[in-house]
Amino acid sequence: MMHPILNHLEARHEDTVALIRRMACCESPSGDAAAINAMAALIVEETRDIARAKTVNCGPLVGSAVMLEFTLPGPKRKSGAGVLGLGHIDTVWPVGTLKTMPFRREQGRLWGPGVFDMKAGIAFFIQAMRALRDLDMPVRKPVRMWLAPDEEVGSDASRALTEKHALAHAAVMVMEPGTGHEGKLKTARKGVGDYTIQAHGVAAHAGVDFAAGASAITEIARQIVRISSLVDLKKGLTLNPGAISGGGRSNVVADLATTVVDIRVRRLRDYQSLDRRIRKLKAEDPRCSLTIEGGLNRPPMERTPAIAALFRTAKQIAIRDLGLVIDESETGGGSDGNFTAGIGVPTIDGLGGVGEGAHALHESVFENRITDRTALAALLVHHLCS
Ligand SMILES: [Zn+2]
Repeated sequence: MMHPILNHLEARHEDTVALIRRMACCESPSGDAAAINAMAALIVEETRDIARAKTVNCGPLVGSAVMLEFTLPGPKRKSGAGVLGLGHIDTVWPVGTLKTMPFRREQGRLWGPGVFDMKAGIAFFIQAMRALRDLDMPVRKPVRMWLAPDEEVGSDASRALTEKHALAHAAVMVMEPGTGHEGKLKTARKGVGDYTIQAHGVAAHAGVDFAAGASAITEIARQIVRISSLVDLKKGLTLNPGAISGGGRSNVVADLATTVVDIRVRRLRDYQSLDRRIRKLKAEDPRCSLTIEGGLNRPPMERTPAIAALFRTAKQIAIRDLGLVIDESETGGGSDGNFTAGIGVPTIDGLGGVGEGAHALHESVFENRITDRTALAALLVHHLCS
């Protein structure tokens, strides 16, 4: 037996599409505080009927986060630790992107900047709460949604608040996109960080005085080979020297060269030993020296028993009420779910849009997965809060 919420949400499909469209048409790149504030204000306006909203200024260069506390059926005063929906209102797309990449409805998909990552997911959660209200499905614990303004640039300004809010809830539902065309949920995310490694050498004329020089470029090249030898794919440990710079002219022995290395780790303890090895790196040429900065930005979201249990619950609801088989996945990409899982709050991620093309020109969500994803979010909240 399909759950009546499916019919209910199917009948509101156009409302959900319109909500996603209004959000996508409000461009909100990270670091553009005015644009972020406009997006925060739009969310507040859009949820007046269903939530008490608060914006929280995260700094003049960042803009506002949004906290929504939903007004749902059930006891007036909810008690106990409920559920926190988690997302971000920023995107990677600068203001003006809509001119070349307009919001479109074609080939069964919604296209446009930020639809997949992650305005659809925000819309699903809001629509899910409306469905619980309209169907009078009681909820006994508080349900909130926290939307960060700076996730795409590392969440430095919002992280402490995200963690604080997560700790007040029994579970976090991250409305980031699902994995692949099936929309698998995410029960593990790698930890993410980077190191900036600088080699300092001795400058010299490459023709007149070559032996007096010590090339920082040659030194950084040796370090990159060493760093690359630390990759361990079996452990899910990767190091990518994704940027390199240094020197200036071919006839000068360079005195400075820099590489920035992205790291991904599946387990925190792998990071700890990796960090020790990176910090112990020494220049091979005694006339050169190294400076090393950086480390882990997001801890790994490890698949704890509590996270596995959350996934089992979602999977059972999907099969029983929606006739849908859902799978889980691990990803190398980080989200704010890394932070909430990292401090021990059971977190399930990837509940948002099904589609493809995050951060890419073909960013899009499948229209025929809007209803079931919204229903899953609603039923999961209902189950966890009843
Ligand atoms: Zn995202």
